[in-house]
Amino acid sequence: MSVCGAYGCVPLAAKPCGLLTEPGGMSQRSCAYFGARYVLGPVKEALHLVHGPVGCLSYGQMVRGQREPLLGTATGEAEIIFGGLARLRRALYEGLSLFPEVRGAFLYATCATGLTGEDLSTVAREVEEETKKRVLVLDCPGFSHPTQAGGHALAYRALSSLVREGERAAAPVVNLVGEYNVAGEAEEIVRLLAALGVRVHTVLTGKTRLSEIETLTRARLNLLFCGSTARDFAEDLKSRFGMPWIKVSFYGLSATSASLRKVAEALGLSGSAVEELIAREEAGVREWLRPRLPLFSGKRALLVLGAGRVGPLARLLRELGFEVVGAASIFGTPRDHEEAAPYSGFLTDDPGDDEVERLLSLLKPDLVLTNAREVWRVIKFGFPALSFPQEKRRGGYAGYRGLLNLARDIERVLTAPVFRLPPLV
Ligand code: SF4
Repeated sequence: MSVCGAYGCVPLAAKPCGLLTEPGGMSQRSCAYFGARYVLGPVKEALHLVHGPVGCLSYGQMVRGQREPLLGTATGEAEIIFGGLARLRRALYEGLSLFPEVRGAFLYATCATGLTGEDLSTVAREVEEETKKRVLVLDCPGFSHPTQAGGHALAYRALSSLVREGERAAAPVVNLVGEYNVAGEAEEIVRLLAALGVRVHTVLTGKTRLSEIETLTRARLNLLFCGSTARDFAEDLKSRFGMPWIKVSFYGLSATSASLRKVAEALGLSGSAVEELIAREEAGVREWLRPRLPLFSGKRALLVLGAGRVGPLARLLRELGFEVVGAASIFGTPRDHEEAAPYSGFLTDDPGDDEVERLLSLLKPDLVLTNAREVWRVIKFGFPALSFPQEKRRGGYAGYRGLLNLARDIERVLTAPVFRLPPLV
């Protein structure tokens, strides 16, 4: 389906939405290997081993705050010329002896070992036979896909291969799928579900371990958070094990309350209990927000965020009274644009440096909500900017408490004296 111009999307520089960057070309996007690391980084009870140069190892360590230790073969000229499988085999045995408690290993191929055609799976099978531990190969050299989304898909396929059939729990138990526990967001979601008597089996992949992934069919329902990364995984579990899934979002008051109602309905829980919880939580949030809303009302917001966050955050800012003048997604899909379109006056995908600067100069936003990579450029040009939190210290933005965190952060940015200076573009 062609999406150029769909949903009121206005491409900058005549660029179609959903554009796939040429492998090896200039891009703001991360590579496929990074995508695999993004999904698998925090998985516990697993050895994470990168077969490639030390630069890839360093890059793969930058994912999220709660990653597990990452080992690497640090391949050099000799391995590129003569082959690096012997080094990989040694590193794998050494890693498994250093961390004997792990139940399995993830091996990541990178550009260098992908280009020389190293066959990681022969080493994986050999070590599996010897150690009786699962060794999963992520064939994810950076050039193998135009965006990090290719790595997400590979990572979820690897996770899916670990899942075994099991007995469903009689009690209401769910899995959070595509919930990355950024800045501890999963804790707020677990708190709200617990108030309804719902237990979370595992948080994929924000807070999970291999043994929980193997047994995730114990849950009665999968709650899908990031549809961009994990929808195929949820569908796969549905077709293989008959596990139902529903899409939820916990960004903003209305989305959080609607998601709690959906969960209660899908699990056959008492409607009055969920309404009581929502009434209690919403009342507290509304009271806290009331004196702050005049500060937000009518202010112009621009979003530059990862694909799955653009729509939910645009809706959330509208709820707070902002006018969302633009939304730019990083590796966005038509579905992400469709979600954001009703809330944003302007949409584009995969903005480069120059395009972000042009967006600032054209739209003159009062607030830019963006990621850790873009935030410094926006501040440099003198626009009030807030980065989506990555660290637990700041607190996440999901759920009722998350909404208060976000409102507090926005208030801090909008009232910071430094942003009273005129912008530079
Ligand atoms: S896998 Fe390739 S693109 Fe990704 S960090 Fe390594 S060299 Fe760079």
